[in-house]
Amino acid sequence: MTELHFEKKCLFCDIVQKQIPSTVVYEDETVLAFEDIIPQAPVHLLIIPKTHIPSLADLKPGDERIMADLILAIRKLAEEQNLLESGFRTVMNSGEGAGQTVFHLHVHLMGGRLFQWPPG
Ligand code: AMP
Ligand code: ZN
Repeated sequence: MTELHFEKKCLFCDIVQKQIPSTVVYEDETVLAFEDIIPQAPVHLLIIPKTHIPSLADLKPGDERIMADLILAIRKLAEEQNLLESGFRTVMNSGEGAGQTVFHLHVHLMGGRLFQWPPG
């Protein structure tokens, strides 16, 4: 059993602990996935580690298992949402300059429309 660490005043830690409601679409020991409250595409999910890691910049040795679980959950959800053929966009904003607004590591999984590149 992995020990989870929660931060006070972290929105996504509150969501993991079910103190704030969310529409959960996947959950296992290390990962939670739920619908983004302001969807930017027909499918817009957020996949997060249950334990509090602020961003990619804070990853450290020992986080391999969590990140592997996270990536595999994305693939599973993309398949469930029928996005494997049509394609899907995954985004991780790291730091304010990149547009990160919630400082609990998360991957945006978006699909169901066409995406542009570069993303802007
Ligand atoms: P980022 O800007 O990359 O940090 O992404 C944060 C995301 O969290 C945004 O897409 C928000 O719409 C989403 N968000 C904020 N509050 C909630 C909430 N209570 N439930 C679900 N998604 C949320
Ligand atoms: Zn957190």
